[in-house]
Amino acid sequence: MNTLKALLFISLLIFNSVILAECQSQRVNVQVLGSGGPELTDGRASSSYLVWLDGKGVVLVDAGPGSSLNYEKSGANLKDLHTVLFTHFHVDHSADFSAYVKGSYFINRSQNIKLFGPESNHLMPSATEFTERLLGEHGVYPYLQDYVSPAKKSSYKINAKNLSPAKHSKQAVYQANDYSLSAIPVHHGPLPALAWRINVAGCSISFSGDMSNQFQTLAILAKDSDILIAHNAIPESQHGVGRKLHMPPSEIGKIAQKAGVKKLILSHRMTRTLGSEQDTLARIKQYYQGPVLFANDMDRFKPEDI
Ligand SMILES: [Zn+2]
Repeated sequence: MNTLKALLFISLLIFNSVILAECQSQRVNVQVLGSGGPELTDGRASSSYLVWLDGKGVVLVDAGPGSSLNYEKSGANLKDLHTVLFTHFHVDHSADFSAYVKGSYFINRSQNIKLFGPESNHLMPSATEFTERLLGEHGVYPYLQDYVSPAKKSSYKINAKNLSPAKHSKQAVYQANDYSLSAIPVHHGPLPALAWRINVAGCSISFSGDMSNQFQTLAILAKDSDILIAHNAIPESQHGVGRKLHMPPSEIGKIAQKAGVKKLILSHRMTRTLGSEQDTLARIKQYYQGPVLFANDMDRFKPEDI
């Protein structure tokens, strides 16, 4: 009898782990707060994505210009935001961050915000330097220093942390009850840059950020993701600086195929790629046969609706 009970218990454990591993897609979606690049002529906010879980916007990936207005339109509540992830600190990925911090003054927020981003180099600040130089005592907005200074009294703090994963290696960054975060270095010209993956309620969403794929790391991070959001910043014909910073559609197709992602979303759309959607699709379809969608501001994507 005891053996039977033990077997039943083990079966239950296996059953539960299978159920928990399944993507609970009704609980999760990712909203595009900014589908454009840095241009002021593309009619789009710059890079930013909000991951929703159980009706709450919990993780923000990048905070490009214009995205805070779309955040407001999304109906998200700043009290629900747990974590801010930065892929890198180009203006079109980070300029609205201080608007979120100031906006939080007007709500009764008490939970700290976790902020993760890359390490510095000679061109870019690290995540902690970015936060300090923006909001610290000697920063651009010293009147907001209470949110970053441990010595000052404030209703919550922004806890920034720098990540420097070993070259070509995925790093587990954070594990909470409902979601976990991991990052991998990607090549974005001379800049320190990260791609991010969020595993949430059994679903997985990966974000390329800006990258050329010279490091060939994104397919490792995005392996079997339910959604991969890839940046469509250049057309296939692009050469020069643009190609050193970004990946052409064929490269996106190769990555999506290699990673076996279930759905591919193209974002960071710029005037040089807008209007080339048919060519972009054809280049991607040479390698990847799954669903491909072009992102617009405010779009929401669920893991399993195609
Ligand atoms: Zn960039």
